[in-house]
Amino acid sequence: MATSPAEHPSAQPFVPETRSLRTLSEAAAACRGCALFEHATQTVFGNGRRNAVVVLVGEQPGDVEDRKGRCFVGPAGRVLWRCVEEAAIPREAIYVTNAVKHFKFEQRGKRRIHQRPSAAEIDACLPWLSAELAILRPPVIVALGTVALRSLLGRPLTIDAAREQELTLGDAHLVATYHPSAVLRADDPPPIEAALTEDLRRSWQLARREGGGARANAAAS
Ligand code: SF4
Repeated sequence: MATSPAEHPSAQPFVPETRSLRTLSEAAAACRGCALFEHATQTVFGNGRRNAVVVLVGEQPGDVEDRKGRCFVGPAGRVLWRCVEEAAIPREAIYVTNAVKHFKFEQRGKRRIHQRPSAAEIDACLPWLSAELAILRPPVIVALGTVALRSLLGRPLTIDAAREQELTLGDAHLVATYHPSAVLRADDPPPIEAALTEDLRRSWQLARREGGGARANAAAS
């Protein structure tokens, strides 16, 4: 007997067989794989070039992203893109996405307060991320924060522990670093931002090495 999404949440029934990121994105707009679509404004899918050599995976869209329908266009995005620039990574070499494609929040008066997605919601949304990565096949994947890392590894691991390890995911290097919102929340932001920037710089070095340079140059040209 088929189980309902409420019993066993998963995006899998909504993910089409395709090699097109646009087709995936259009299909994700209609995903009802878990309950998070009910209160969010829209699905926020990944964006960037198909030949991107560094895929940045965040947690979930925030309040601004939910309204605009784009990843990393809010306060955390400003931190991220500042670090990307500091790390000298061309934007064209990057594809950005999130582990969870709908904004989870708690309404408090007029404010929508971010809520961390549950393990079940992270797992439910994984088929979208897996489909994106299967098309992109990047040499380097960067997990921004513990939710992205949990999604990609399938198990919890702290960022501090993961930063000490050489991780891989299939043929790709998996670099774990802080989510840019950690910079915004930190009592002492500069060291967190410096670490994020350094991890991004290392990701770009790995991408240029593993991507054979040509793909990286093509993405950046
Ligand atoms: S969060 Fe993911 S699995 Fe849940 S409805 Fe949105 S796109 Fe589908």
